[in-house]
Amino acid sequence: MQKYFISAKILRSGPIYNNMNKTRITHCKHGHAFTPENTYWKKNGKYTTRDCKICKDAYSKRRDELRRQSKPAAQRRHPKPNEIDMAWAAGLFEGEGTITMTRIKSTKTENLTCSVIIVGNTDIEIVQLFHKWWGGWLRKRKKVPGKKQAYEWALRGKQTCVFVADILPYIKTQRVIQKAKLLLEAEALRRHAPMRGQEALTTQARLWEYLIEFRRLNKRGDKTTDALQALDS
Ligand SMILES: [Zn+2]
Repeated sequence: MQKYFISAKILRSGPIYNNMNKTRITHCKHGHAFTPENTYWKKNGKYTTRDCKICKDAYSKRRDELRRQSKPAAQRRHPKPNEIDMAWAAGLFEGEGTITMTRIKSTKTENLTCSVIIVGNTDIEIVQLFHKWWGGWLRKRKKVPGKKQAYEWALRGKQTCVFVADILPYIKTQRVIQKAKLLLEAEALRRHAPMRGQEALTTQARLWEYLIEFRRLNKRGDKTTDALQALDS
């Protein structure tokens, strides 16, 4: 039986591959015109190939989006406290702690923000326990004459999520719950929103809004006034 082989040369001789010149193709396979503005040229060994800018940009955008969505949450880096310890820490934090956002000073970018958790106490053992369970930093506060030496535990960045998620179920006051949820929301945005290129500026601006909100919430009188206002309304 006779076998027939079609040479590669004949296969390539269709209208597209005429003269083996792919540049005769005027549109990408999704129908975008290969205009000078819409064409990426690249050297690929001995060939020079083209990419459609619209398609390539859309692809990298999708890829970045998928990468961001699958970004892992903040990992626990310290031994997990048991429920009683968490409830104790939550109660103490409610009385002595601060949830807020600060501005990071940067020469490159303005309006960089960072979530912060602070617990101050004159008993070093208390701040040491927070440090043992959630990491962060311990420091001596500036000594005020006539007052006892105070210590401070501070946690910054995405590790604040681990702490807030731990204590949130045990928090009783609306004011602290509101701030805890606000922090989780801001950190979720930081995790999933674009943090590079032009779009990063939009993300930074959105995070800055959270900082303003924290400032507003932290300024709002003392707890007694808030509770009284709540009873009035
Ligand atoms: Zn295209």
